[in-house]
Amino acid sequence: MTERPYVIDELISAKAIAARIEALCREIATEFRDTDKLVVVGLLRGSFVFIADLVRELDLPIEVDFLEASSYGDATESSREVRILKDLRGAIEGRDVLVVEDIVDTGHTLNHVTQLLHSRKPARLKSIALLDKPSRREVDFRADWIGFEIPDEFVVGYGIDFAQRNRNLPFIGAVRFT
Ligand code: 5GP
Ligand code: MG
Ligand code: MG
Repeated sequence: MTERPYVIDELISAKAIAARIEALCREIATEFRDTDKLVVVGLLRGSFVFIADLVRELDLPIEVDFLEASSYGDATESSREVRILKDLRGAIEGRDVLVVEDIVDTGHTLNHVTQLLHSRKPARLKSIALLDKPSRREVDFRADWIGFEIPDEFVVGYGIDFAQRNRNLPFIGAVRFT
């Protein structure tokens, strides 16, 4: 595969991400202060760095589980089908659940995943996304917490890839073709 050359422009620094996570975790800990044990659900693969930092800032009893969803664009992008490639290991009925996503873009993925998890009757279900691109929304979905609103740019780093690369960058950057 030949790759078009590109550079990555830093959009959100590692320091800014860490500061935002601290603030978000104070709010999350308040929301779930009475929880028995919070199930923190990471959506693979993009959220793996975010969830790792998030749970280490969260002063709550937690469990971690993962789910992998994939969306397939068809002729009409707005009717995109979301498929579950890997489901949770544990049951969530009657549990407090926090779904952790990297980016809300069209909204299809988190909309579908939260509807699916709701059908399993958790006691409380909340969602958090590190990044939000509101200008790209196709379905009416709002995460309960958002790290940063960003413009319509293709971003990488901090767990997020471009063709499986750049996940290990400590910051969020925008891809710019040169
Ligand atoms: P949605 O279903 O909200 O359109 O899609 C969300 C998913 O699309 C994200 O979890 C992420 O995997 C992918 N995505 C959206 N925007 C970007 C982006 O700028 N960069 C990368 N690498 N993935 C993105
Ligand atoms: Mg994703
Ligand atoms: Mg991806």
